[in-house]
Amino acid sequence: MSYCINPHCPKPIDLANANNPICRNCGSQLLLQNRYRVLKQIGQGGFGNTFEIDDIGKTKVLKVLTENNPKAVELFQQEAKVLSQLNSVSHSTRESRQGSIGDCMSQLHSASHSARGS
Ligand SMILES: [Zn+2]
Repeated sequence: MSYCINPHCPKPIDLANANNPICRNCGSQLLLQNRYRVLKQIGQGGFGNTFEIDDIGKTKVLKVLTENNPKAVELFQQEAKVLSQLNSVSHSTRESRQGSIGDCMSQLHSASHSARGS
């Protein structure tokens, strides 16, 4: 099962996307960083959406920022710091997770721009 995190996707839950690296409905990446597959959305609200992801067999939580203002980014980074401390993950794991969050943010912004342009 794959979930498309593009907020403008016409069909984020599509069984036909199960093994696709790219969403067949909007062209967004489904396999983030070539390793994280989004399973489902588990939360929505505030400045971002929360997703359950599969990291090569391990289930993790990914939060994607949807607001692009300084206060939102600040809160987001604080929460990411707290979450990474709670999970007590290793330093290298923490770095790769933050990298994936950054990639998601840029992907979402480019997706929303192209959606508006069409
Ligand atoms: Zn999509």
